[in-house]
Amino acid sequence: MNMNEMQSIVWMDGEFIENTNAKVHFFTSTLHYGSSVFEGTRAYNGKIFKEKEHNIRLYKSAEIIQLKPKISLEEFTKIQREVMARNNLTDCYIRPLIWFGPETMGLKTANNETHMAIAAWEWGTYFSEDLVETGLRLTWSEWRRPDPKTAPSVAKAGGLYMICSMSKNQAVQRGYDDALMLDYRGYIAECTAANVFFIRGKNIITPKADCFLNGITRQTIINEIAPALGYNIIERHILPEELGEFEQCFITGTATEVMPVGEVDEIKFKVGKEVLEIRNSFRSLTIHPNS
Ligand code: PMP
Repeated sequence: MNMNEMQSIVWMDGEFIENTNAKVHFFTSTLHYGSSVFEGTRAYNGKIFKEKEHNIRLYKSAEIIQLKPKISLEEFTKIQREVMARNNLTDCYIRPLIWFGPETMGLKTANNETHMAIAAWEWGTYFSEDLVETGLRLTWSEWRRPDPKTAPSVAKAGGLYMICSMSKNQAVQRGYDDALMLDYRGYIAECTAANVFFIRGKNIITPKADCFLNGITRQTIINEIAPALGYNIIERHILPEELGEFEQCFITGTATEVMPVGEVDEIKFKVGKEVLEIRNSFRSLTIHPNS
């Protein structure tokens, strides 16, 4: 989809306007220094899945980088619903974004206005449905998730996504679906827009989220789906050498939902009934969202 040509209504700093009129000033501080925060949510049957969790994370992300939203979290949430309604959308992706304006060009942001906008559009599956049967093909990224003392890893902040974008581009150029990143210590971290899980018997093993985004879908797997299906969840540091010991693998994220993985470079995984059952359980939570 060409977003530039897409006909839709976005909300920007208090007004509902045409997508093509939603523009920012060249001196926008965030454009130069990557200091935005954002969310990606999905609505199913007219209801935003884990709406509260996403908006709480957004406002926390803003606080971490000292962006100061001028409206309350509750009000901003209501406007997201209004953007959906004005675009006649019931099943869509929603992108709220908060950023620093153009008032000053130095690195100090105290005098820069906080801006806010929301867009929503129909976005089918992130990966083709055809890939469910074989599983995604992942490759190792040459880029790593940084030390939380280097970048605010709990914030969903724009600047951190340069690493993801470079990794994704590299993977796609090599003929893979996505990249798997290690962290700054060499442990397995996450994919470019998704968390990763491994299955061995009745255990689901996932990297400890101590330096990357603790995804809301990840938390849904850990707190709701895995216990309901009788799995033990193990969150721990995982070395890349351990991959061969796991039977199945999947990744999770708002855009991605739950997708099986068939390989990480030369390591192969089975797409078994277990991983498909987890995927279906997630689907049924979203089709009948209870949160
Ligand atoms: N890691 C990264 C880098 C992401 O961009 C995302 C998508 N937001 C995730 C993990 C998964 O997070 P969530 O389940 O909250 O969408």
